[in-house]
Order: sequence, then C-alpha cells, then structure tokens
Amino acid sequence: MAEKNEVDLLKEKLFNKKENGWIDVKDKENILNYAKGYIKFMNEAKTEREVVKQSKKIADSNGFRDINECESLKPGDKIYYINKEKSMYLAIIGKESIEKGLNIIGAHADSPRLDLKPNPIYEEAEFAYFKTHYYGGIKKYQWTTIPLSIHGVIVKTNGEKIELNIGESEDDPIFTITDLLPHLAQDQMEKKLKNGIDGEDLNLLIGSIPYNSTASEGVKLNILNILNQKYGITEKDFLSAEIELVPAMKCRSMGFDESMVAGYGQDDKVCVYMELTALVDMKDIPNKTAVCIISDKEEIGSMGNTGMESHVFDTFISEILNKLGVNRPNLLEKVFCNSKMLSADVDAGFDPIYASVSEKNNAAHLGRGIGLNKYTGARGKSGASDANAEFVAEVRDIFEKNDIKYQISELGKVDVGGGGTIAYILANKGIDVIDCGVPVLSMHAPYEVTSKFDIYETYRGYKAFFEN
Ligand code: MN
Ligand code: MN
Repeated sequence: MAEKNEVDLLKEKLFNKKENGWIDVKDKENILNYAKGYIKFMNEAKTEREVVKQSKKIADSNGFRDINECESLKPGDKIYYINKEKSMYLAIIGKESIEKGLNIIGAHADSPRLDLKPNPIYEEAEFAYFKTHYYGGIKKYQWTTIPLSIHGVIVKTNGEKIELNIGESEDDPIFTITDLLPHLAQDQMEKKLKNGIDGEDLNLLIGSIPYNSTASEGVKLNILNILNQKYGITEKDFLSAEIELVPAMKCRSMGFDESMVAGYGQDDKVCVYMELTALVDMKDIPNKTAVCIISDKEEIGSMGNTGMESHVFDTFISEILNKLGVNRPNLLEKVFCNSKMLSADVDAGFDPIYASVSEKNNAAHLGRGIGLNKYTGARGKSGASDANAEFVAEVRDIFEKNDIKYQISELGKVDVGGGGTIAYILANKGIDVIDCGVPVLSMHAPYEVTSKFDIYETYRGYKAFFEN
C-alpha cells in the first residue's frame, strides 16, 4: 500500500493532469451568471456591425471615449476607435511607459453566413427569392431548411442608411432555403456531401403572393412594393447594400445540467465578449496599456480595410502615441516589438462522435478551460504563427499564478486539416502572439456549442493577462 501511495504522489508531481473543470468547481454561480450576460450579448449581436454597436454601448457605459474626442491622453484613460462600423479597437492607457509594450487581446466579430448578391431578387414559378453568396467556410447542406433572419444595411445614393433586422423578434417573419424531399432525392443522396447542395442553389424563399392577376413577375413586384412602402427602396438600392442571412435561432443555455451554450456565431463572438468584459471589468489602472481588438473579415482571410491586414490598427496605436505626447520616428515599431498578445479565437473541441480527426493527447476538451494553440497552420505547420516557448511560459505563468485552468492543443491530427487566425498578422509586427480561446463543437455550423466553464475561465484568463 505504501508503494502505491508513493506512485500516486510521484504521478501527481510529474504528470500533466488533465481534468474536467466542473469537478469541485468553486464559482459555479459566477460561471452561470457570466454565461447569462454572454447569451444576452449574442442575441443582440449576430453580425459584425451589431457586435461593434453593442460593444460601443458596453464601452460607453464603462467610461470609454472615442479617441477622436480626446485632446491628450494619460494613464487610466479609456478610449476606442470604430473603423467603418465593422471593426473596433479599445484601450486603457497603462501606468508604465508605453514604450515597454502593450498587452493586446484580439478577436474577430465576423462569422460564416450567407450574404446577398448585389442583384439578389428574382422570381421563379410564382415564388420570389434572394440569391446569396456564402461567406466563410460553411457546409452548405447545413444552411437549408433552418430559419434565417436578414441583417444589414442598404445605403441609398443620398447617403441615407437603412438598417435591416428581420426575423429575430417573435412577431417578425423568418426566411428559409428549401431542400429536396427524401422521396425524390435519390440522385442527390448519391452525391458527395460537399456537392449535395450547390452554392447557386442557396436561394432564400421570400414571398409567394403576386401583385395582381396580370403583372408578369408579379410576386417579385409585390415584394419590391412591400419593401418600397416600408423602407423607401427600389431594386437598384440592393446594389449598395450589405445584407447577411444568419440563423434566426436564439443563443440558448444547453443540456439538462445547463453546462453549455448553443448558438450561432460563437466563433468568434464568444472571444469578443470575453475580451471586452475582461477589459471593462478591470478595477485598477493596468501597468501595461491594455488593448482590445475587434476585427472583421477573419473568416475570409482578414483582407480589406476592416480586416486585420489593414493598417488602421497601426494608425490607432500611433494616435495613442501622438496623444500621449511621446511619439517619435519608429516608436510604433518599437512598441509592437515589446508587445504581447493573446489571439482570441476559438479552438476545435474534441467531439467523441468524430474522434478520428483528433489526436487524443493534443486535443482540446470542452470543460477543461482555456484552449491555447501554440501554432495552427496545416500540413507541416504551413502558414502557422508558432508562438515562442519563452512567451508560452510567460502565459502559463500568468494562468497558473491565478489558478486558471488551461490546455494546450492542436487543431486536429497531423495532415487531417488545419486553419488560421489573425495571430500571424500581429506576429509580423514583432508582437509575441499565441492563439487562446475556448474549444467549440460544430464550429462554423448554424448552431455551435461551447462550455460555460471554459467561457468563464477564459474571461478570467484574459483579465489576468491584462492585469499582468
Ligand atoms: Mn475564428
Ligand atoms: Mn472561424
């Protein structure tokens, strides 16, 4: 017996014990309460524009100001910059000289979805439809026969902007994309899953009443007439619009034990909510200037002037240097080289139904805390930003000192696939970066699943990183 105890003790000392965070959990009430706030946020923010709008509300109510309204800056000042309504950067000026670097956390607000084409409306067999073009990596078959809502903006040539949000309220109509009945799907069912639904067949059914008995394209005419009466728009106005179709399902608490959250777009709005609340909940002025990034276009490669590849983020930090009165040539580059960052993005959670794509020693599990990816990439780490061991040790130290549960994993088995985040873009500036978020099941599906334990632990982890 004595021998067994010695083995147990030695194992306890030497093994990296990976255990379920719910066992002997101390702050269950805080975990469940935090998830309530998150679920509420998710139901108010389904697109990047809505995320920025809600984030601005949270920032405003916590004493943040638009940097354009600040003449000068000093430690403790809380500021933000909104970039074209689709991305946003926030900061709290730290006590230390900004030259020593920033503590940055960056997430993205965009999620896979269906966008309307510029010429979307047509009529066929007395049905009116919208043509779509999918955005990001989706499994097309998942987007048929589910309730969809319409979100976005239509901008008229005079600059007037019409905001759409149809299908979220119980009183609103919803929309859907039809699929073939099984009785007649013999040929379709023989197809490969990826070809089962054609991209050009993702057409949204939007109406079926003709304007009158004589008009040709009467259903299309009737729909345009309804839209004209309600919003003052014509068919041409869809040319200058950004309209997104997202699942009309509510984000909800999940499981008999209410341990999980199910909802659309948790990749990566969960990280936006966690980084934002971590930033605004800080009681004291941090040592290092704390910066929060809410990026756009991550799901299609971070390009464009609202994506992370744009230089608008650099301009925001330069503006901080200007308003602190410390700027000089090359200071921005120096600040970046001294900065540390958590690239806040979700991780693939181990799914026992599809266990074969994961390697069990290096998979992230729901309920085991924050998931870190030292590197992402695919096939021989190609395209990866591989975090330096020294920086990983620093992050581990922060988490361990604050008793925060974390796990370091890979996105699936070697050569099975891969992915990327905004990490490499910030790493290119000289910043130490590691991917760090929560594991998700059914990532990129209309309904994704996360663990409330991981969400709360990641919020605590982000806060500890800012406060470090
Ligand atoms: Mn993501
Ligand atoms: Mn994604």
